[in-house]
This record gives sequence, C-alpha cells and structure tokens, in this order.
Amino acid sequence: MTNPIFQNYTSPWENDELRILRDAARKFFQSEFKPKNDRWIEAGIVDRDAWFLAGEAGLLCAEIPAEYGGGGGDYRHETVIMEEMLYAGLGGFGNQVHSTIVAPYILNYGSEEQRRRWLPKMATGETVGAIAMTEPNTGSDLQAVRTTAIRQDDHYVINGAKTYISNGQHCGLVIVVAKTDPALGGRGISLVVVETDNPGFKRGRNLKKLGQHSADTSEMFFDDCRVPVTNLLGEEEGKGFVQLMQQLPQERFNIAQAAVCGIERALEVTLDFVKQRKAFGQRVIDFQNSKFKLAECKTEALVARTFVDQLLLQHLEGKLDAATASMAKYWCTQKQNEIVDECLQLHGGAGYMDEYEISRMYADARVQKIYGGTNEIMKELISRSL
Ligand SMILES: Cc1cc2nc3c(=O)[nH]c(=O)nc-3n(C[C@H](O)[C@H](O)[C@H](O)COP(=O)(O)OP(=O)(O)OC[C@H]3O[C@@H](n4cnc5c(N)ncnc54)[C@H](O)[C@@H]3O)c2cc1C
Repeated sequence: MTNPIFQNYTSPWENDELRILRDAARKFFQSEFKPKNDRWIEAGIVDRDAWFLAGEAGLLCAEIPAEYGGGGGDYRHETVIMEEMLYAGLGGFGNQVHSTIVAPYILNYGSEEQRRRWLPKMATGETVGAIAMTEPNTGSDLQAVRTTAIRQDDHYVINGAKTYISNGQHCGLVIVVAKTDPALGGRGISLVVVETDNPGFKRGRNLKKLGQHSADTSEMFFDDCRVPVTNLLGEEEGKGFVQLMQQLPQERFNIAQAAVCGIERALEVTLDFVKQRKAFGQRVIDFQNSKFKLAECKTEALVARTFVDQLLLQHLEGKLDAATASMAKYWCTQKQNEIVDECLQLHGGAGYMDEYEISRMYADARVQKIYGGTNEIMKELISRSL
C-alpha cells in the first residue's frame, strides 16, 4: 500500500528504494511513536528521547549529504518519512522544521565549519533545530522584525523576543532572524545561529494551543546574547531576507504536502467509520448524502495529490517558484480544512470527541492556513505573478 485511499495510484516520483524507506518508516512510527502519542498530547511535548530514536532509525535529515551525517537522499526521502509520520497521526513531532527547514539553511548557507559542527548532531537527534522569525509584534511583515544582532568586535550581541517557535522547548540551536543593521530595513536582516546553552538565551512558555498538542511551540528571549560572528549564516550580513525568500517555497510546499496527507488520512478514518455506523437501519455510508459528500472529497483529494506530486517533480529539478509553492500551500490547506470538516460531520457526535482521531485532525488542520505565511499572504504572493 502506498496511499491510504488511492490504492491504484502511485506517485510518479516513488521507486523501489523509496518504498523500502516507506515500509521502514511506517513500521518505526507505528511501533515506536504511535503508542506514546496520547501521552505526548497530554504532556504538550514529545519525549526528548523521541529525537534520538528517530535519529537512530535514520529518519532525521534524510536529504542532507552523508558526509554531514545525513541520509544522503533528496526531497523525496523527506516526503516519504513525513507522509508515514502523518498517516500515523504524529503531526506533533517537529521533524519537518528540523529536517526540511533548519538543516537545509545550514547546508545551503553554512560554511564548511558550520555544516560539520551542526549537521551531524542534528542527524542523530543530539541537537534539535528551530527557526525563529515571528515576534510578538510582527509575523506576516517579516521585514519589520525588531530583534537586533549588533556586531561588537568578533561577536554579535542579540536582543529581542520571538514567539510561536516550533521545537522551542527541545531545540539546541535556533536560526534567529535579526537585524544586523536596523537602519537598512529588510536589507539589514541576517540569519544568526544561536546555540541554546548560551547564557543570553532564555526559553519562554510552552504555549497552549487549539491543536497539534504534542508539538512544543514556544516563546524565546535574547538578552545581550553574545554569539561569535562565525555563527552568521552566509558570507556577509544583510542577506537574511533573500535567504528566507529562497527557502520559504520548500517550507510552504511541505505544508501543502502535509495538508494532502491530512486529507487522505481523514478520508481513511471516515470511510471506516461510516461503513460501520448505522442510523435508520442502514449504514451511514448508504445515505446518498454521505456518498455524494465522500465522492466530492475523494475527487478533491486526488486533485490535491496529483498537484503536489507534480510540484515535487518540479522541485527536484529546482524549478518550484515562490508563486506556485504559495498556490499549493493556500489551496491544499484550504481544502484540508474543508474536507476534514465534512469528515467530522459524517462522524456525528463522535466527531467532536477527542477519542476519535477526526476530532484531533480538525483541530490540527486549522493552523495549516496560518503558519508558514498565512493564506492571505500566499494570495498576495500569487497575485504578484498575475
Ligand atoms: C503552531 C504554530 C507554529 C509556528 N511555528 C513557527 C516557527 O517555528 N517559527 C516562526 O518564526 N514562526 C512560527 N509560527 C508563526 C507563524 O508563522 C505566524 O503566526 C504567521 O506567519 C502569521 O503571523 P502573525 O501571527 O503575526 O499574524 P499577523 O501578521 O498579525 O496577521 C493577522 C491577520 O492579518 C492578515 N494580514 C497580515 N498582513 C496582511 C496583508 N498584507 N494582506 C492581507 N492580510 C494580511 C493575516 O493573514 C492574518 O489573518 C508558528 C505559528 C503557529 C500558530
């Protein structure tokens, strides 16, 4: 089985090697993580040990070259691992941020010394990665960040506050979006890596959320946090905004792919439910309304699946542009929210109960339209290509 609802569909990028990885990832997530998930949801965070287990299983930093400790694969490998994690209902494990966002920044912009210092530990789970763009007073308007990293001799002194940062409690390093030259606005933004044992770094609360309860999402504070200038990502200051614009399409595309997994899983659990549940002497699936709703959802699910699979092929060739990635993020997450809502409705009251997976999926889906750039910002970016 490659897909929970389209048994006759095979993604055009999948091959035998990836199927072996898929089987291994599925077994790992189902046997090692799934039994712990309820406890993690209750705790608001996964066990720290989960990162080491995933590292040992070879499921972290799959697209990072083997010479830096990674899996030596490409974005397809990351996709397979994410899909199996999400099909197992484990959206709270922050590997997407760690492996498909943070590690690529270090690989793409880091010096050889930085890559060798950080990537191998990220691949084993010894260091968890986070990226801190959002601040209490600015999210969508990234150029307006107020956190500063002012150079003093051979150090940057970082001051500011960040919020809603994924992996914020577990992270051992965080890529901080800060202004090295506040007078230059967006052109003064740089990316500086902070190791979280730095005395000037403080973690804030693990924030309580509507959904994705096992994901740690935190505030963080930088108070005269001194890091060596060698922690700058890239050869010169002021390149941060351009680096973000180059990397955000992969992050947004990844959210779109996650949305498609969410749709597929929602349909899978809903089909199981409506085939068993009876009302008025017949199965819920036998009502024409149920069949039509599910027919619509399945059609849209296949449209979404083929869309992201096609874009994955473009992305592998380095041809996924910002507007198209934004289209995928906006449309797939919008569809995820609509379809999960329909699926919840078909569960009746059970759909509102925590013990049914669809209830969690409903709460988890909501943020997909918000993070990684809101869907309104996606439309803004798409409209620039008109
Ligand atoms: C669970 C979770 C995890 C997150 N993880 C991270 C993380 O790891 N790292 C990180 O840096 N951030 C993270 N974020 C933050 C997230 O990226 C931001 O919340 C998001 O970009 C929106 O920013 P904001 O919250 O400041 O909203 P605002 O920018 O204040 O937006 C408020 C509303 O105004 C709308 N709006 C704003 N500007 C425009 C415009 N130009 N045109 C039309 N409408 C507009 C928005 O669409 C939105 O509806 C996370 C958020 C959540 C909820």
